[in-house]
Amino acid sequence: MSATARETALGDIAASQPVPPFERPDAPRESVTAEFGCDVFNERVMRERLPRDVYKRLRETMSRRAPLNPADADVIANAMKDWAIERGATHYTHWFQPMTGLTAEKHDAFLAPTPDGQVLSEFAGKMLIRGEPDASSFPSGGIRSTFEARGYTAWDPTTPSFLMGEGSGRTLYIPTVFYSYTGEALDRKTPLMRSVDAVSRQALRILRLLGNTTATDVRAMVGAEQEYFLVDRRLYVQRPDLMLCGRTLYGARPAKGQELEDHYFGSIPSRVLAFMQDVERRLFALGIPAHTRHNEVAPGQFEIAPVFEDVNIATDHNMLIMEVLRRTARRHGFACLLHEKPFAGVNGSGKHNNWSLCDSDGNNLLNPGETPMKNAQFLLFLAGVLRAVHKYAINLRIGIIGASNDHRLGANEAPPAILSVYLGESLSSIIKCMAGGSGEEGPKNCPYIEIGVSALPSLPRDVSDRNRTSPFAFTGNKFEFRALGSSQNIATANISLNGAMACALDDIATRLETALAAGTPLNTAIQTLLAELFQEHMPIVFDGNNYSAEWVEEAARRGLPNLTDTVSALEHYSDAEVMAVFSSQGILSDREMASRQEILFEHYAHSIGIEANLALRLGRAVILPAALDYQEHLAKVAERTAALAGEAGVETTYFRRVRGHASGLIGALDVLEALCAEASGKSCAVEKARFARDSLLPAMQACREHADALEGLCRDRDWPLPLYAELLWMY
Ligand code: ADP
Ligand code: MG
Repeated sequence: MSATARETALGDIAASQPVPPFERPDAPRESVTAEFGCDVFNERVMRERLPRDVYKRLRETMSRRAPLNPADADVIANAMKDWAIERGATHYTHWFQPMTGLTAEKHDAFLAPTPDGQVLSEFAGKMLIRGEPDASSFPSGGIRSTFEARGYTAWDPTTPSFLMGEGSGRTLYIPTVFYSYTGEALDRKTPLMRSVDAVSRQALRILRLLGNTTATDVRAMVGAEQEYFLVDRRLYVQRPDLMLCGRTLYGARPAKGQELEDHYFGSIPSRVLAFMQDVERRLFALGIPAHTRHNEVAPGQFEIAPVFEDVNIATDHNMLIMEVLRRTARRHGFACLLHEKPFAGVNGSGKHNNWSLCDSDGNNLLNPGETPMKNAQFLLFLAGVLRAVHKYAINLRIGIIGASNDHRLGANEAPPAILSVYLGESLSSIIKCMAGGSGEEGPKNCPYIEIGVSALPSLPRDVSDRNRTSPFAFTGNKFEFRALGSSQNIATANISLNGAMACALDDIATRLETALAAGTPLNTAIQTLLAELFQEHMPIVFDGNNYSAEWVEEAARRGLPNLTDTVSALEHYSDAEVMAVFSSQGILSDREMASRQEILFEHYAHSIGIEANLALRLGRAVILPAALDYQEHLAKVAERTAALAGEAGVETTYFRRVRGHASGLIGALDVLEALCAEASGKSCAVEKARFARDSLLPAMQACREHADALEGLCRDRDWPLPLYAELLWMY
């Protein structure tokens, strides 16, 4: 009997060795520090290659967001081109982040033909500053229909350009924002940058009231921890569901999953370690400070975390981390799965978005300070966060939606769809006490803070891991937003976060200004306001187990929204209060939001539509034939045994079990087929999305139940798809 594709793959995998890291001939070899950023057109390169006055003005543009001097563009473009060509580049591309959720690029050569049949290298300032990709096929939610297809990319000098690719055919990547002819945002970076400006504007108002005259802006800082799965590529290519949908649509639970908890923080398998080292090497060259690597909870699951950076840069870097993970995996014979739920029954992957606000003097505004006044500042920003998460919970919820993230949120492994804030015992008791407001001694261990006079007791720093169930946890000097999906562009969650925070700070600043204008002394005004805010927003604070059923009931009593899936969350995107958060802060216009809502409904419906069609195809063309073959084999066995024994035996019972599920699968596939046809006839985006959630998903699940049961009954050797145990444990 010749070996099946599965058997051949397993044999090859058993013999495979770690792949040594890729050595780039042109990279400096001395040390990691010498290599760090060697593919980035960073400040050091700019300083070396630009005339001093041009460099100074560009720095202004980069840090203060002063507009770029157009006369400088040619000089900068030329320096960039020379630097890139020296390092093996032949092409450049404007790199942008359209609403597809991925990045986009179109490469153009630096070469321009001359009349005498030669070529010269050319890259003018205008090519650096603006591009016009043929953009008619990007999602725009009606903003840009094909007859008015113009979309532009504009250079974003606040995040560095870099080189990608290997050897002598590399490409210069220029980060850009993407917008329509009418000036509307078609990407995720434009609103992200607007949200950073908004939160900076409102935070500065508060800093000024507290007497800070030096800070010129406030920036959101983000460190995103990225989870992912690795599966061997030889098995991956035999799973069309992993290849097309990123997750398994069929597959019975393996005998061993994550029960023994022996994978988490376990010793890293050598093939995986070689992969991680290769990834890190590439990330260092791109100036991405990859810092932490470890095994995650599920078998085959791992994590990488860089050091935190300005959110605009952190967003680009997270997109690049995902890209480098995918590309490098291929080199090492793996496929990297970034989907939120590749395997049923074991943990899925998320992204922890560590977020803080930092002023231009380098002070972290979420750091409890040493002095009473610094503490007033900390408490005001803390109150801002509580207000943002409480009052604008739906905006935050919309920032983490997605068909794939629906598999995690609310399941028993990730924070629920209900947003709450974890502060830890000491901080919770402090704000409870202040909410009491009167200056009386609170309960024991509850110090009363008098603004401007007393200081916060020092808070324990190790609060971070005490509550891994919280979607939004205070971890000493930052908040960790844990509900993001592993595949998501972090811009979306941070637009929501910055937008909600800007609104909250706006309100706080206005109330303080009003009190001061009425003659209230500053400390009194702050004290009174904090008491009011802590009282009002106490319901968002929850230090208990977010995974418990009791919390769902308790949260409902507290009036916290529980939007359990993407469609129900998205339906609120057009609520006046939700839109006001973004429009009042100049982050998204009403038209931009309407288009985004439409795009996101469409995206959800398409994602599930693709899954449903593939589930149908795999069920019919791959699983059912194997099951029917085995059923026929069993029929013969049962018939022959009955003939020999003179009566039907257990073989017949076994045959009937297989037949029961095979018939069940045929019936379930027929239902799915009819529903897929019905879905394709729908044109309204909301309707399609609702139909996908309410009809397609349950119909797919019904097919899966029979198919997975058959997997457990049929002969292993003939099963046409690699099994969970093989996908999860072979590396
Ligand atoms: P923890 O274990 O408490 O989650 P880590 O030190 O492991 O904290 O940090 C996790 C992530 O948070 C890293 O990416 C780290 O760089 C980032 N981080 C640390 N401090 C800050 C901060 N002030 N603002 C934003 N992110 C931060
Ligand atoms: Mg963490």
